[in-house]
Amino acid sequence: MFSLDQQKELQGIAKGVLRFNEPMSEHTTIKIGGPADVWFEPVNVEDLANTIKWIDDHDISRMIFGNGSNVLVRDKGIRGVVISLKNLNQIVRDGNIVKVESGVPLGQLVSWSIENSLSGLESLTLIPGTVGGAIIMNAGTKEGTIGDRIKSLKWLSKVRISTVSSSDLNFSYRKLKMPKGVIIIEADLELATGDRQEIESKVEKIKSRRKEIQPLIWPSLGSVFKNPEKAQAAWQLIDDCNMRGVRVGGARISNEHANWIINEGSATAKDVEVLIKMIKEHVKDKSDVNLEPEIILVGE
Ligand SMILES: Cc1cc2nc3c(=O)[nH]c(=O)nc-3n(C[C@H](O)[C@H](O)[C@H](O)COP(=O)(O)OP(=O)(O)OC[C@H]3O[C@@H](n4cnc5c(N)ncnc54)[C@H](O)[C@@H]3O)c2cc1C
Repeated sequence: MFSLDQQKELQGIAKGVLRFNEPMSEHTTIKIGGPADVWFEPVNVEDLANTIKWIDDHDISRMIFGNGSNVLVRDKGIRGVVISLKNLNQIVRDGNIVKVESGVPLGQLVSWSIENSLSGLESLTLIPGTVGGAIIMNAGTKEGTIGDRIKSLKWLSKVRISTVSSSDLNFSYRKLKMPKGVIIIEADLELATGDRQEIESKVEKIKSRRKEIQPLIWPSLGSVFKNPEKAQAAWQLIDDCNMRGVRVGGARISNEHANWIINEGSATAKDVEVLIKMIKEHVKDKSDVNLEPEIILVGE
């Protein structure tokens, strides 16, 4: 917990919005999560770096939040400071290279790429993350991931900002290997000049397909488990256990997509965790596969 003295000191350092005891259910797409001690929205990179220095010097824990579309926050919330980079929201074009800050929502980036007749980001259509979160998760689909487009990244570690080129980055399935505590600030993406109508029609097709097969009207975190390397897709393994529609409290395994857990309105993180455990046990019993969660569990 933050002492009043710490709150005052932090208010003297940070320039952006600061809120105390912030309900994380307002910042996750599944609408679940207890309070964070502190919620901070730095106004720019300098504000971020100065405040991070204060946080680290005081040994306070911290985490970055994108759009909270891949994070399950436990019911007692998060101790320390949660930082949103929503004010880092610039997109600048230099030929086929696009410099994009990490707080930009993917939906905005995909629309921007259509307007600018640049192709290569279509596979990110309707993924509700930010650029920073997408890079950390190497988000995408079988058709392509954001990692495929990265030319270089700018990141902040402690108070040092470094630029790292793609040859020094290690992207794999839903993962970028990163030094601990590093914050992605910006990325250079390499795109291809294309035909605006063609790009737009590809995006529209992906949107229709997703709306057909995904329960998009419910709060969720998308796919809960990664697809195992040497087995069927996670949704098939769960389907083999006949688990669509199984409910714990206010959380339910989606009827439309067996690898999605939806919040029917009153779900707690505990409900979701119990469902996750049930799914893992059933799949292990039935198919001898250890499913690994794609979503990240945080808090207490
Ligand atoms: C309806 C729905 C559909 C989805 N479909 C897909 C899909 O098709 N493909 C797919 O890959 N994913 C999908 N997802 C999952 C999710 O949207 C992606 O993983 C997304 O990239 C997460 O981005 P975010 O900004 O929400 O990150 P968050 O969930 O906020 O954070 C994810 C992780 O990244 C870290 N992080 C975020 N920003 C930064 C930063 N700037 N620097 C350092 N660390 C950072 C966080 O600390 C956290 O550990 C879906 C989710 C939903 C709800």
